Amino acid sequence: MSKKTAFITGGAGFLGSHLCDKLIGEGFKVICMDNIITGSPCNIKHLFKNKDFTFINHNVAKFINIKGKLDYVLHFASPASPDDYLKFPIQTLKVGSLGTHNALGLAKDKRAVFLLASTSEIYGDPLVHPQPEEYWGNVNPVGVRGCYDEAKRFAEAMTMAYFRVHRIDTKIVRIFNTYGPRMRISDGRVVPNFIYQVLHNKPITIYGKGQQSRSFCYVSDLIEGIYKLMLSGLNQPINIGNPREFTVMALARLILKLNNSRSGIIFKPLPKDDPKQRRPDISKARKFLKWQPKVELKEGLVKTIDWLRLDSA
Ligand code: UDP
Repeated sequence: MSKKTAFITGGAGFLGSHLCDKLIGEGFKVICMDNIITGSPCNIKHLFKNKDFTFINHNVAKFINIKGKLDYVLHFASPASPDDYLKFPIQTLKVGSLGTHNALGLAKDKRAVFLLASTSEIYGDPLVHPQPEEYWGNVNPVGVRGCYDEAKRFAEAMTMAYFRVHRIDTKIVRIFNTYGPRMRISDGRVVPNFIYQVLHNKPITIYGKGQQSRSFCYVSDLIEGIYKLMLSGLNQPINIGNPREFTVMALARLILKLNNSRSGIIFKPLPKDDPKQRRPDISKARKFLKWQPKVELKEGLVKTIDWLRLDSA
């Protein structure tokens, strides 16, 4: 039987590259597209010699031309760290809107299954806790995070329009905070920031009082959930994330402890529109995908610390 082909936008990024690995491992051919503004060739260089892997450097906000059959289009391209989308707000809006339109057009043309990488950010600063998929969110469209939140909300709306009008088999994964190897040390997100600071004996920078919460999912768990969703018959958005919630202060203490570090803590102003709490309700993923995360925060952090230690050496 001929191999199935998956096309992954943002395939050189943190999550995209892990998805490339997963699909190659599962016997797919993978075409990876990235314009390397926040992704890196280092994340996929081990795949360059694999005959089932192709890399194309292209900005998906521009027309995407792929020859041959495609079975899956997986749209992962976008800056995803608040620092990155603050640096690239227009590119973030374009990849979420024009890029999603192009990726959907490609899926329609190839009669491929389409999967959108959406985000817990579509819930904004949530007034419902934990967040179920039915919650519509509390987003400031004109705030500094609006470029990411609204681009992803538009992307979801566009995906559902293609589902309804063109009858494409679409899936939407709402990804909650994820961490693990291949995050850039300078990514700006809380896990790599704290680990970098501790490894370099610098004080940990807590924004606000550190009482805001997040729920951290290890990358292998997330990729497993996405793989199950991709093969499922589901067309409605699904939360994938780890439901164990930690304050940012608790995360800082854990990272200090795991490193036996005496780096202190310094407090910095809370960024604008920083969500106060976030935790996925994963009842649907449990029920329909038979999925739930397995990796405890401590275990995932140890692996991430080991990787970032080598990466920043
Ligand atoms: N944060 C922090 N110190 C840092 C980086 C982030 O206290 O050096 C906080 C940030 O304000 C937010 C949480 O950690 O409340 C998670 O931030 P991150 O950038 O990882 O992603 P977000 O969940 O906000 O998209």
